[in-house]
Amino acid sequence: MTAPIAVIGGGLTGLAAAITLAERGAPCTLFEAAPRLGGRTGSWHHRPTGMLLDHGPHLLLGCYHHLLGLLARAGGRRHIRWQRSLTLPLWAADRGHFTLAPTPWLPLQLALPVAVARLPGHDGQSSAALMRLALAQPTAGEGVDQWLRRLRAPSPLTRDLLEPLCLGSMNEGIATADGGSFATVLKQAFSSHRNARIGWFHPSLAEGLIAPLAAYARRLGVTILTGCRVRALQAGTIVTNKGKHGSFATTILALPLAARNRLLRIDARPETRAISNLHLWFDRPLALPHPFIGGIGTRGQWFFDIDAMQGRGTQSLRHYCIVISDSPPSSPDLEQGLLHELEQLTSSPLPAPAMHKMVRVRHATHPVRDWKAIPSREHLIDACEQPTPGGLPATMERAVIAGYAAAITALSGSKP
Ligand SMILES: Cc1cc2nc3c(=O)[nH]c(=O)nc-3n(C[C@H](O)[C@H](O)[C@H](O)COP(=O)(O)OP(=O)(O)OC[C@H]3O[C@@H](n4cnc5c(N)ncnc54)[C@H](O)[C@@H]3O)c2cc1C
Repeated sequence: MTAPIAVIGGGLTGLAAAITLAERGAPCTLFEAAPRLGGRTGSWHHRPTGMLLDHGPHLLLGCYHHLLGLLARAGGRRHIRWQRSLTLPLWAADRGHFTLAPTPWLPLQLALPVAVARLPGHDGQSSAALMRLALAQPTAGEGVDQWLRRLRAPSPLTRDLLEPLCLGSMNEGIATADGGSFATVLKQAFSSHRNARIGWFHPSLAEGLIAPLAAYARRLGVTILTGCRVRALQAGTIVTNKGKHGSFATTILALPLAARNRLLRIDARPETRAISNLHLWFDRPLALPHPFIGGIGTRGQWFFDIDAMQGRGTQSLRHYCIVISDSPPSSPDLEQGLLHELEQLTSSPLPAPAMHKMVRVRHATHPVRDWKAIPSREHLIDACEQPTPGGLPATMERAVIAGYAAAITALSGSKP
């Protein structure tokens, strides 16, 4: 019999850890401070529309094998919408709409350079640079910017593809992002057509991702305590706002780093990166040709047609969202600037939005850094988001891997 294990934090990392434990027969209790599970991959209730809004639109890639495996076991894969093969719609003020869409009939390693060379403003130099990137790894500690300059990546390739991909996957610009981690993302994503295609959850993260995982965890026997904020850890006993729970052989921490530090009385403020989402509702549909479009040279990086993504085309109010990755604090003219970009993108006068809401997730992700692990303590496993150089950045896939690894470590040491 395995001794009981506590998991603190009911986001994707905590859910992945709890499910992995329960699948292997370990008794497990999951503590979540919020009334709902999901953390950053959760949704919140927007009263004026009655809708569940995600903390931010989330995209996944075909190479998220751990996340997809977990969802398959939970019976939740039907909630993902997939592109048939990689299609990256882009827009720039000087070139209008264009799309990176490698032909699925050639292996991706050939199809991608051909497709890139055909983008407006590109030529064989972009394809040759892509091939150099595929062959040469960044050196230890080399930033994305340095790596791209060393490999003489032409500026159109950096501007149209590499910078947006870096921002989208690492939530950090090329000037400071880690080259090794970006190379890992490119390698995994562009290894095949199947791995490169983009997907998203519908109808919302809460319903499409978290609900199936939570239901599966409960079926496996995980005790899930929501609204249960952990305030202290006392030798196998978990002290929460609702009382004491014990006794646990091992505790897995699956928290944002600031919450972990508060709990363990660590006096450090971890670096985080923000993401801003401007939600807009119009009383008529806008002419967006794709469910999402990457803006080149725009303040908004991604323009989402949320109803098209979530299959809700008949709503009386049409919902759009403009996302700024690695976003600086809001400036007074930001919303007007984003609306102007949306107007340019749709090439027609923009009606006044019926409703709008700017949501800035200040601590959206922890950047790739040389994080120092917490001083080791008996029976405490740290699965908190701490992406390190060369590894995956803070993504859903990384969260699932971290939860899985923590559970396996806990099991290896929890046999009484
Ligand atoms: C706006 C936004 C957009 C994103 N877009 C993408 C994307 O497109 N693709 C992608 O792959 N990734 C994306 N990410 C990243 C991804 O969401 C995160 O990396 C991942 O969700 C982290 O999961 P986690 O479980 O480690 O942390 P969290 O989701 O933060 O979970 C931690 C949980 O711990 C709980 N908690 C905190 N303190 C306590 C306490 N004392 N006691 C008990 N519980 C506590 C919190 O309430 C929370 O539920 C995005 C993130 C954001 C914010």
